[in-house]
Formats: sequence, structure tokens, C-alpha cells
Amino acid sequence: MNASLLLRRCQLIAQEASGQTVDIAIAAGQIMAIAPTLEISAPIELDIGGQLVSAPFVESHIHLDSALTAGQPRWNLSGTLFEGIEIWRDRKADLTIEDVKTRAIQALKQQASLGVLFVRSHADVSEPSLSALKGLLAVREAVKDWMTLQVVAFPQDGLYGSETNAALMEESLKLGADAVGGIPHYELTREDGVRSVHKIFELAQKYDRLIDIHCDEIDDPQSRFLEVVAACAIRSGLGPRVTASHTTAFGSYNDAYALKLMGILQRAQLNFIANPLINITLQGRTDTYPKRRGVTRVKELWQSGLNVSLGHDCIQDPWYSLGTGNLLAVAEMAVHVCQMTGQDEIDACFDMVTSHGARTLNLQADYGIAEGQPANLIVLDARSRYEAILNRATVKYVISRGQVLVETAPPAVTWHGE
Ligand SMILES: [Zn+2]
Repeated sequence: MNASLLLRRCQLIAQEASGQTVDIAIAAGQIMAIAPTLEISAPIELDIGGQLVSAPFVESHIHLDSALTAGQPRWNLSGTLFEGIEIWRDRKADLTIEDVKTRAIQALKQQASLGVLFVRSHADVSEPSLSALKGLLAVREAVKDWMTLQVVAFPQDGLYGSETNAALMEESLKLGADAVGGIPHYELTREDGVRSVHKIFELAQKYDRLIDIHCDEIDDPQSRFLEVVAACAIRSGLGPRVTASHTTAFGSYNDAYALKLMGILQRAQLNFIANPLINITLQGRTDTYPKRRGVTRVKELWQSGLNVSLGHDCIQDPWYSLGTGNLLAVAEMAVHVCQMTGQDEIDACFDMVTSHGARTLNLQADYGIAEGQPANLIVLDARSRYEAILNRATVKYVISRGQVLVETAPPAVTWHGE
């Protein structure tokens, strides 16, 4: 078979330490061959010049239904999670499928241009119209030729926040949501929260779906739904198909409880997602000083061998008015907030927005740079993961399904001084 695209002198992460490069040949949307030197030609040949070629970034946690709505209908003045939920309740009153589709595709194009080709988005399913879910399911179909999108049915107002919400969740799964979501810490009582977690597992088994729960996204050290999620994962055996998002209260638990919990989590083998941009912004708002960071124990979870990925969570919405969708900004924030400043730790933060995210999304064989894999890869203006985070490197080429989808020139700096 003839190659359609050839990348010369690529630095793969696996050979970062040695500095050895490889050529990568692509044909029919797949990686055809990888070798130090390939004696073939192709209609398009790119000399990568020893720069880093990675599997694409994976956005493991975002809310595309609310993306690009900052200030609508008003600004979040307290900056808290709960005022954000109030504002979103007003904004979503006039949500339409078209409105969701337009903004979501705009946000996905923005992320794809920054090297993100796999995204898990939550869709609020607390409204009887299910406009957010229907809009995002339509988007999943519309972008499938260049982007893989997973949609989580997310009961923003609580699974038991109203009499209809549990039925709306089940309807969402019948419509084709990829995962069951939840928000146990926002339910009316602790008992409702526990009941919601059990219901989520029951539905995931009934419809054979993944699970991704907004879990303990609060500074309250008494918010302990993570142990409930872990227990359900152990008893059901679903662990690797289950994700606990945020778990910010874990950062406020006393160490004796945290140590006990860590043992349970290792048995459960859940996936974890921290959203450092948003966690550092929303949490700690009721503290004076010292003020908590409000981020889960990323470093300790990672050191325990558990799968941790990082998400952007929000792009210009009621919870966070900033954000461009750049996962290198997320990784850079994790380095700071989670104190992951060692060389291995910085590399791990890069992995948390790439391969670890792929594991969270259960992408398995669809992800990674190897012969026979789908040809999804990115070329960074950097020679290593460290340089990529250091410089928030430009993603020069985004290759999706074997085609160059986006090309971006790094900024050119001209020095006119002495
Ligand atoms: Zn979220």
C-alpha cells in the first residue's frame, strides 16, 4: 500500500530520553509503518525536525452545553459553584437544540485546533425538553469524521432534585447517552445522595454504559460520596468503567480518613478527573485565610498508581468566564496547584491530558501511536513534554483520521534590539 502522508524525524514520547527519532507513514487513515528511516515516499511529506509527536490531547471533562455563555443572562458575582448553577438554571430556560449545537461545535473546533481529538462532555438532563442532550448527541454525529465525542447524561439539579429527573435520566440513556452522570453532593440530603449513586450504577448496568459522577465538588470535609462510589465499583466490578470527577472534598479530608479511603480506592480502580483551572477558582470561596486550594489529591492518587486525568471543565460559562480549551493550560495549572514540579511529575501532567484521559474514556485500542492504529496524532512546537508545558507549545499539525485537519504556525518573534 502507498502512503498518503509521511512524517519524517518525529520525536515520540517513548524515545524522549534517547532523542532518537522515527519516520511515520500513514495510509487509509491508519498508521502504516513506524521506523527510524522509511525508504518510501508519499504525496505529502512533512519534516518534523525532531519535534514531539504525540497522540492527541483528550478532554476528559467539559460542559459543551453551557460553553460560550459567560455573562448570559448575568455575570457570576460571587464566583461560586452554586451561583453558577443558579445562573445556568435561568440561561437554560430558553435553551434550544440549535443553540447548543452551534456553541458546542464552535468550542470543539477551537479544541481540535489546539490538538484535542477526544472529548467527554456532560449534558444537563434536568430539563423536560432534554435540549442539551439532544443537541450534543446531534453534535456527536456531526463531528464524528474528525472528533470522537462522548456524552454523559448529567442531572445538574440532582437525580432526585425533582420528581421527573430520574425518569429524564433513563430517557437520556435510551436516546443514546454514552455515560450515566450524577451529582450526589448536590442532592437534598445525604440519603438522597447515596441513593442516587446506587441508582446510577443500576442504570449503567441495565443499559451497559460508562459512569462519570460529579463527586464531592465542595470544600465540605463531611462530603463523602467518593467512598459510596468506590464501594459500588468494588461490588459491581465496574471500576475501570467508572470515573469520579472533581472529588475536591478529598483535599479537605483529615489524613486518617484520607489514608483509609486511599486503600478502598485502590481496590475499586476508579478513574479520577481533576479540573484544576475551575477547582482552584470555585473552591475555597467561603474560606478567609488560610484559603484552601480545593483540588483533589492529584499527586497522591497518581503516586498510588490510580488513573488520574485532567479536564478543562468550563469554557466561558457561568462557572468560569475564561478558558480557551487549551489542555496545555490545564496541565500547566495542575503543575502549580497540585505541586507537581518534579521532572517526572511534569511529564505525568502531560500524560494526564493525553494517555490517562484516553484510559478514563475507555478508548482502549482506538488511541495511541503504533502501527495499525487510527492515524490520530499531533505535532508540537517542542522537543519534550516538559517543553510543551513550559512554553504552552503551539500544536503545529493536528492529524485526524490520517488527514491534516489543522495547521498552525508558531508565533514568529523578531528581535530589533542590539
Ligand atoms: Zn463538571
